[in-house]
Amino acid sequence: MGVYGIDLGTTNSAIARIDADGRPEIMVGMTGDTTIPSVVLFASANDHLVGEGARREARLDPEHVCALVKRRMGDTEWRFAAHGERWSAPAVSALILKSLASDAEFGGGERVKRVVITVPAYFGDEERRATLQAGNYAGFDVAGVLSEPIAAALSYGFGRLDGNMDVGKQGARETVLVYDLGGGTFDATVIELADRRISVLAVEGDHQLGGADWDERIALYLSQQFCAANPDAEDPLDDSAGSQMLVLAAERAKRELTDADRTEVVVAHDGARAVISLTRDEVEAMTASLMRRTIDLSRDCLAAAGKRGVSSVDRLLLVGGSSRMPMVESELRKELGLAGELRDPDLSVARGAALYGEKLEMERLVIADLVTRGRLRDGANIQDAPQQDLDNAIGRVAASFGQPVGLVRRMLEIQVDTVVSRGFGVLALDYQYGLAATWLVTRNQTLPVRVRRSFGTVRPDQDEIALTIVEQQGQAASLRPEDTKVLIEGRIRGIPPGYPEGSEVRVTFEMGFDGVLHVTAHHIDADIPLVLSTQTGATLSQSDVERELDQVQRSRRRSS
Ligand code: AMP
Repeated sequence: MGVYGIDLGTTNSAIARIDADGRPEIMVGMTGDTTIPSVVLFASANDHLVGEGARREARLDPEHVCALVKRRMGDTEWRFAAHGERWSAPAVSALILKSLASDAEFGGGERVKRVVITVPAYFGDEERRATLQAGNYAGFDVAGVLSEPIAAALSYGFGRLDGNMDVGKQGARETVLVYDLGGGTFDATVIELADRRISVLAVEGDHQLGGADWDERIALYLSQQFCAANPDAEDPLDDSAGSQMLVLAAERAKRELTDADRTEVVVAHDGARAVISLTRDEVEAMTASLMRRTIDLSRDCLAAAGKRGVSSVDRLLLVGGSSRMPMVESELRKELGLAGELRDPDLSVARGAALYGEKLEMERLVIADLVTRGRLRDGANIQDAPQQDLDNAIGRVAASFGQPVGLVRRMLEIQVDTVVSRGFGVLALDYQYGLAATWLVTRNQTLPVRVRRSFGTVRPDQDEIALTIVEQQGQAASLRPEDTKVLIEGRIRGIPPGYPEGSEVRVTFEMGFDGVLHVTAHHIDADIPLVLSTQTGATLSQSDVERELDQVQRSRRRSS
């Protein structure tokens, strides 16, 4: 059974799988569209609508329409209230995921079970966990959470691998800046493609910056023009249906201005009407500061990559729907001296996710084949298998899937390396600063990481140690607790009695390739594992999870 790749986007989402020829293929649903708006309409307490229908309804029934939910991922307090129910961001996202799965199944795919879901590179531990949670609520087995720019690079790199094999050639090396301006998030990433290795060298981004901000600026301008023309009418922005309508009109105008120099927008509200003309130059002027921020972040990203030895960038890859705006290409050329290439901006992330899913699946099957034949120890790495055994296993897996041996081999050979998107550490008492953050891992360090830190008890028979794990918030790793975000506030419990003050508890912090943090603890003298019980942070209680799961499963999907 294949693994599907899902681009769970802020404004639009897509799902892909690997076709019989080993190429990524986007699945289209009943509407025939390759992407669906990431918008959910809670039509009643029992049913919901996802996609274009929900997006259209936003204007008529704004209170029941949830859009841009991705911006809420990782915010454990946030809920969307509709028809007496409260929906967390993972629960709303699960409805979008389920809808994509139905589309894929309708489009001729097999049942969607195992998936890879993409997230912005900039997402920290909490947002990644929320994404995993969404996948679990949707009933999927999440094989991996993959950063979007890696997915885009994989899709691009795979094309290259497939074509002239540049990337696979021994010694060939290419440094790429992936500029990803989507509907609600911006990510800048420097990636190196070399010897079948895709390495992320640096990430920067802002998950409150995207096409929707352009829409807002344009909507504000439209409302000002409308009010100037109709001084007695109500400002459409003062009314939720009016402002939804204005934002939709703004978005449409923005898209038109990608192809045309000027357009006209008709705004009708409160019995009044205005025909407002809008030029591309005007829109570029009113959104210049947004564009500037993406350039500043790209520069920061290049500077971070510079610290890791990257002196120049060979290629600028433009992804995300908003990269279509002509100002993106022209400003980047002017400011960074790079000519951008717009490649499949809406679908490359889902395609890359499907490729990554396929790679994970092939790896899993080859390992299973080797283990069942006693050629590899259970739990060992694929690299530990003798070459001849590996070749034989690859041959068998390729045959059972009817795929070329070369393709399976290439999938297994592709290596993906990535970095920590936000540093993390612990809050501890410092002699000089009082309560201060001690950073264990800094941003842009290569994943996976594993750090150990020892804590001593401060009195005999102490049975627990309080531990606060924090994540970096701003650009620089500040020592001040108020500049950090608490990830886990927990207690290491179960320290056995009979040990003196100063006995050592060793805590291991591990962050895997998916950027999700795992914490374990060990009592050194007693040589026993200890339990870290969390009080706050990303984790919902078991009963909350069950209630939300039930909520997601109960709500029926309306098809239109
Ligand atoms: P994504 O999240 O990557 O699907 O990007 C969606 C964003 O791209 C939305 O803000 C859209 O308004 C924007 N977008 C899509 N097509 C165009 C276009 N032709 N011109 C400008 N913006 C666009």
